[in-house]
Amino acid sequence: MGPLRHAYLDALGIDRWVPRNAPAEVASAPLVESAPLPAVNRAVIPPAAPFVPLPPVSDWGALRERVAGCTACAELCRTRTQTVFGVGNTRAEWLVIGEAPGAEEDRQGEPFVGRAGQLLNAMLLAIGLPRETVFIANILKCRPPGNRDPKPEEVSRCLPYLSNQIALLRPKIILAVGRIAAQNLLATDVPLARLRGKLHTFGEANTPLVITYHPAYLLRSPADKRKAWEDLKFARATHARVAAAGSA
Ligand code: SF4
Repeated sequence: MGPLRHAYLDALGIDRWVPRNAPAEVASAPLVESAPLPAVNRAVIPPAAPFVPLPPVSDWGALRERVAGCTACAELCRTRTQTVFGVGNTRAEWLVIGEAPGAEEDRQGEPFVGRAGQLLNAMLLAIGLPRETVFIANILKCRPPGNRDPKPEEVSRCLPYLSNQIALLRPKIILAVGRIAAQNLLATDVPLARLRGKLHTFGEANTPLVITYHPAYLLRSPADKRKAWEDLKFARATHARVAAAGSA
């Protein structure tokens, strides 16, 4: 971890995720990639609800328009300020997927703003990824009122938009942050603690999928930041392998 990342994390009051008494060479050591990857769990999109999604579109503008005008969830489209499509580089190799917009995201129309967004930015930067180099989206494009969990039928209606985003982006890796994102992408109710540390895949393209904690959770439970750091290093190693395999 370089001085820039240290400064960035320090500025936010975030632990650097290395032992404070670790020698400098340990803190900055390159990632060891010799360990075999754990077993792969194949992800599937949750079973379709009675709602019938429109066929996917082949350009970002059309998809953005479609999401902006979506009224599939009566409650959410009545209570939202606006849809939150996602943000970032549409040629990114990394796709970060969270849960749903919160109050500030709903106001600004952008995912992961506010304190959780700042921590996500720091987490990404710690593995060499400025926010603008990745694409960030949520499972739901509209804010659930009172920040309640998304309902299964809302997820079923909204996932086709995320699948369309993934098809357009064709990321080399997906980083799912938080239980809601992980469980919905994997169509499972296995606790997040048991989904971490494994390599999963998503969709027909078998896109590598790595799970970690949601930054909002880490703000409440800073003791788990060290585990999140392990997840980020694992994701970085996975991406490096995929990229190397793609260029071989
Ligand atoms: S959450 Fe998704 S499916 Fe539901 S109204 Fe918003 S954009 Fe449409």
